[in-house]
Amino acid sequence: MSLIEQLARPEILALEPYSHASWDPALERLHANENPWRYPDDRSEAGLNRYPEPHPHVLESRLATLYGVRPEQVLAGRGSDEGIDLLTRAFLRPGRDAALICPPTFGMYAVATRIQGAAVVEVPLRADAAFALDEPAVFAALSPAVRLLFLCMPGNPTGAALDPRVLERLLARTAESAIVVIDEAYAEFASAPSFASRLAEFPNLVVLRTLSKAYALAGARIGAVIAAPELIALLRRIVPPYAIATPAAEAALSALAPANLAEAAERIAALRRARGMLAAGLAALPLVSRVWPSEANFLLVESPEPAELMRRARAAGFLLRDFSRGRHTPGCLRITVGSAEQNDRLLTGLAAR
Ligand SMILES: *Cc1c(COP(=O)(O)O)cnc(C)c1O
Repeated sequence: MSLIEQLARPEILALEPYSHASWDPALERLHANENPWRYPDDRSEAGLNRYPEPHPHVLESRLATLYGVRPEQVLAGRGSDEGIDLLTRAFLRPGRDAALICPPTFGMYAVATRIQGAAVVEVPLRADAAFALDEPAVFAALSPAVRLLFLCMPGNPTGAALDPRVLERLLARTAESAIVVIDEAYAEFASAPSFASRLAEFPNLVVLRTLSKAYALAGARIGAVIAAPELIALLRRIVPPYAIATPAAEAALSALAPANLAEAAERIAALRRARGMLAAGLAALPLVSRVWPSEANFLLVESPEPAELMRRARAAGFLLRDFSRGRHTPGCLRITVGSAEQNDRLLTGLAAR
């Protein structure tokens, strides 16, 4: 039995997937009960009167090129959030299995796991060691029930990189018992190479990527699950047909055209520079006691008076993310790196009484 067959929920392996209307662009479509006419202002290429391609092959091969993998190793979804949801549904048996997470971390891992009716095992990151993984504690928490591990690199909300050698040891240790998900939502802002290039070494590896952050497409909701073809085929059994809306797919293909990619690379470089300047400006503020090192497009700051910092930000017209009441982030706020002009205005506002 393959690893995927061994770990997948038996119901999903046995499922007869939804059979969607066939897809043959060469023929006229009188098989899907669509409207023959576009609405008058429909500016889309494909026509919004038509259902989109059931599985967006063109987009998926474009994403495969972007991430340096083969198309059969990619599943496009409505943001990487959908990937997280699909993974819990494919691998976690309600009432029996568990996902391991390392807080403080992205909230959707626990939410999706609980919606699935599975347990959440928490092994906190080491706040005393720049939010590194607590390797012995993670190893000790592994049990036959733990079928999924969600790791975020760089971390949200920490901004921290994880040691790739620890990830390698974890992937090797769980090679026959669990799927390790490395969420690389912010990889474009980081220095470390993506784990997407390591699929051949680790059959239990899943990498999540998204166009939401670095490619300025949060509103289009396009993310990618990257994994072994067998795992991708398993998720295809669950993902709804027509999941990717036509305007979203067209926007993604446009954003990934060469000229726009070049622009994205410049913007990413600009945000990385701005991150350093914003971090220095924040560290100089009396109300900020600590700025955590960040490999992402945001900064986690700690303050003795987080409510006052939030108030000053709001008075200057900015929303920040308040994590100060979180168990693992006392006194902390998360600040997205904006344009240089926004960052300056924010710093001025935070310095004002
Ligand atoms: C923003 C974010 C996501 C969600 O990305 P979408 O592709 O927009 O769903 C996933 N993981 C982390 C860690 C994030 O911060």
